[in-house]
Amino acid sequence: MTAPMVPDVRCDSCGMPLATAADHALGDPSIPYCRHCTREDGTLQARDERLERFTQWSMRAEGLDYETAKARAEAYMATMPAWRKDA
Ligand SMILES: [Zn+2]
Repeated sequence: MTAPMVPDVRCDSCGMPLATAADHALGDPSIPYCRHCTREDGTLQARDERLERFTQWSMRAEGLDYETAKARAEAYMATMPAWRKDA
């Protein structure tokens, strides 16, 4: 079985697979983020904005309360290249 030669590119902010150029912000493969994590000009959204969206998503997807979902979102973002704290 031959695997298709698709590089395992993922959004540096949320981890969503970026299988094709169209999945990248602005359809530009040089941008390491997906459409959902960027502003209209292709730049990364503010950290607080992403945190809020991850939190809301976790609440919906997993039925968590706000504080639990936010803690989980913080932990998740800490593993992502765009948000990882180097210190
Ligand atoms: Zn993303």
